[in-house]
Amino acid sequence: MLDALRTEASTCTRCRLSQTRTQVVFGNGHPNADLMFVGEAPGFHEDQQGIPFVGQAGKLLDKLLAGIGLSRADVYVANTLKCRPPGNRDPMPEEKHRCEPWLFRQIELIRPKVIATLGNHATKQLTGKETGITRVHGQPQPATYGSMQVTIFPLYHPAAALYTPAMLKVLEEDFAKLPALLDQEIEPVPSLADLIAEPEHEPVAVQLGLF
Ligand code: URA
Repeated sequence: MLDALRTEASTCTRCRLSQTRTQVVFGNGHPNADLMFVGEAPGFHEDQQGIPFVGQAGKLLDKLLAGIGLSRADVYVANTLKCRPPGNRDPMPEEKHRCEPWLFRQIELIRPKVIATLGNHATKQLTGKETGITRVHGQPQPATYGSMQVTIFPLYHPAAALYTPAMLKVLEEDFAKLPALLDQEIEPVPSLADLIAEPEHEPVAVQLGLF
């Protein structure tokens, strides 16, 4: 299923990044991973190789994963944008909007327990809130996409942490919280149908006193 979606995405022309990309960088890793990472957009190396996070930021991501006993084969890694913005500029709102259905369909098929959002773009897109990464990093947030419950776990982007030792320390500390989050059972959120369901027994004679 994920392969069919990858094939479909490989010829995407929903935004103008399709005119400048070398190839679509769909995502890679375990197709049913409990832990999914969502970064910002492919950079030069990702655009060349067709795989997310293969440059310096990717090497740091690999190191952080190894620190909690995981490898890239255990997790799934994707981006909010599937194509490289020229010169690695920030994603534009229109590009994010047009690319978003690919990401949500990926999430639906992978059904991760935890989505670690790397940096501001992914965090704002997946939480649907404007609160920036400096305020929300390391704080798990329950989210529901359709019938699926997932924990969003915002993290600093590894590319930002590469050159800022203080941020790297925070990123390592936040990463260390991931194993416990993955072990946690997600509390089922009652569905709307449950909330409005008829009580099993009709309340009896509550109006008798009126007569
Ligand atoms: N930065 C990202 O956000 N994604 C990549 O794939 C590489 C660098």
